[in-house]
Parts: sequence; structure tokens; C-alpha cells
Amino acid sequence: MRFIDLAAQQYRIRDKIENRVKKVLDHGQYIMGPEISELEEKLADYVGAQHAVGVGSGTDALLIPLMAYGIEQGDAVFTTTFTFIATAEVIQLLRATPVFVDIDPKTFNIDPDKLERSINEVIKEGKLKPRGIIPVDLFGQPAEYDEINEIAKKHNLFVLEDAAQSFGATYKGNKTCSLADIAAASFFPSKPLGCYGDGGMIFTDNTELYEKLVSIRVHGQGSDKYDNIRNGINGRMDTIQAAILLAKFEIFDEEIQLRQEVAKRYNKALKDILDLCYVNNHSISSWAQYSVLHPDRDKIIKKLKENDIPAAIYYSKPLHLQKAFLNLAYHKGHFPAAEHIAARIFSLPLYPYLTEEDQNLIISSIKNIIKSAC
Ligand SMILES: *Cc1c(COP(=O)(O)O)cnc(C)c1O
Repeated sequence: MRFIDLAAQQYRIRDKIENRVKKVLDHGQYIMGPEISELEEKLADYVGAQHAVGVGSGTDALLIPLMAYGIEQGDAVFTTTFTFIATAEVIQLLRATPVFVDIDPKTFNIDPDKLERSINEVIKEGKLKPRGIIPVDLFGQPAEYDEINEIAKKHNLFVLEDAAQSFGATYKGNKTCSLADIAAASFFPSKPLGCYGDGGMIFTDNTELYEKLVSIRVHGQGSDKYDNIRNGINGRMDTIQAAILLAKFEIFDEEIQLRQEVAKRYNKALKDILDLCYVNNHSISSWAQYSVLHPDRDKIIKKLKENDIPAAIYYSKPLHLQKAFLNLAYHKGHFPAAEHIAARIFSLPLYPYLTEEDQNLIISSIKNIIKSAC
């Protein structure tokens, strides 16, 4: 069994993918070919944003907006400590300071109350200038944007939605990537919508910001590539990746639906023996990961592996305890909710084509393991 089986999806639409890639080989515009704007228009329309900018990865989709906002040394950007390194790495890359915030232990997403407290502390301390917030839609569930956007407005901060795991998810009737000032999506192969390499996209309604994003994506270009008006990067998405995404996007909504069914079956079967991720009634998760909690997590994973069932841990170490952020002088005990979850969390295989048979096998294995060993 695989943790995520990309082959099942490919088998289903292999001819469509080949046709799309063949078109790129025929026209030969490997850099910024027509597929890029076709994909940007389709996905902007899908999420309900004015503008979309295809970029080289989800990490670039986080970095470029921070560059467009002029984030620099002395700035504070608030984010969750329980996320993938990329979310906070981009802040530090620009010499600004990531200010970590603890999570809601039920949803695993940034806790708005703790966020506001943290902003007030930074203001009171007076050393850093609060500039923005990066909430993460962890495992596919949108963060609490109504609360977060209100706090941001009060303190004049921008909100950059890290939707790397939540493309296709919904919050109060609106799609992710449309829930804040600007949003970053990732199309890394194992994300809900994935290409066959690295890819990402930025979404915003702000036209002034959009023009900066487009410029930074290609070396800070002005009227053309050889007129350079600001610092930029090589942040383009490859045409071939856009072509692959166009083929995959055709079945994406159906796949999001299939993910709901897998998650529902897990929830029903496991709710009495494991602590589940709580998904708010006003949200639909894209189920990038199906994560659960158990104090004997390591034992369960080991036994599952013996039964040829892969499980993974996202994330065993919150960012405030990572060596990359030692300079920030956080310590163990700083964010108890995140530390508590990190010690118990593990993820089970979930993808649209996970068969009921495999799911039943996973469920019965977990039941047996917990009954006998834990
Ligand atoms: C995957 C991921 C990213 C980075 O995306 P890449 O496409 O791998 O660069 C950023 N943030 C989160 C929360 C992610 O899961």
C-alpha cells in the first residue's frame, strides 16, 4: 500500500496528460507558454480571485508576496509554529522576524486569540514592526479567517494565506485562496492538486500588488526582462507543469468529493479509538492529510508498517524548536498546544483513489493494534 498513490490518478487520465504535454512539445514555448495564462485564468476563476500568478513552487508563492510588501529586517510576521518549514523560512530569508503563535489543539490551526495577544506583546515591546500574518490552512482545513482578518485590520497588517495544503477547500461558502489579502498555493506532486515537479500560484484581488508579483516573478522586470526596476527572482512556473495541471484540474472537483468520502469513512470508524482532527461546520477540508492523535503513536506506526500500511508524522517538531530558528530563542514549553499535538499526531493514507478494501484494512489494523498493545 502507498501513503499517496499518484499512479491511480495518472492511469485514469494518462491520455489527457499526454495530449497536453504533447501540445507544449509542439509549440515549444517552455517558458511562459500559453498554458500558464490559461491555468491562471481557470484557477483564479475557480477560487474567486481577480488575479493569479503561476510561480515555481509553493515556497515562491509565499516569498514573492512578502517581497512585494517590502518585508525587511526589523519587521515582524506572525505565523503558526505548527506548519511546514517553508511558511516561516521565507520570512527569515528576507531578514525579517517570524513571530510564532500557538495553535488551537482541536483544529491544529493558528489560534486567533493567541495571535492577537502576540501582536500586542510585540507592539508593547517596541523592538519589531508588526507587518503581516501568515495563517496556514493545515492539512486542508482553512484557518479562522473572519477572526484573523478582523485582527489584521485593527492593527493594519496584511494577511497572506498559506493555502499550500488547502487548494479546493471551502470556508463559509468561499474557496481557499480567496480568504485573505493574498494567498499562496502549492502544486507539489502530493498536494491535493499536484503537478509532476514543483509549481505554485499566488492569488489576489489587489491589482497594484498583482503588478509587483508579476515583476518580481521575472527578476524585477519593468517594461521587459532587461529593464529591472526592483529586486526579483526567477520564480516562473514551467509551461509543462501548467499543461499537466490543466489536465488534472478537469477531474479535481470530483477528487475533492472522493476525499470527503474517504475522510468520512475514517471518521466514523475511528472516532471512538483515536482523537480526530475537528473540522469546523463552516468549513470543507481538502484533506491534504488525514491526521489523528494517540499517545502511543510511535508504537501504532511501527505496527502498521509491519502490516505494510504506511503512516507518516506531520509534524514531529514545531518550528519554534527547530534549529533553523534557534536564533529566535524560543524554548520547550513555549507553545504547549503545538508541542502536545506534535507528540501525538500521525497521518494515515488518504487520496481520492484509496479503495474501500484498503481503507477497511487500515481501520481494522488500527483497531487490533490499539486493542492488543496500547
Ligand atoms: C508544501 C507546503 C509549502 C511549500 O510548497 P512547495 O511547493 O513544496 O514549495 C508551504 N507551506 C505549507 C504549509 C506546505 O505544506
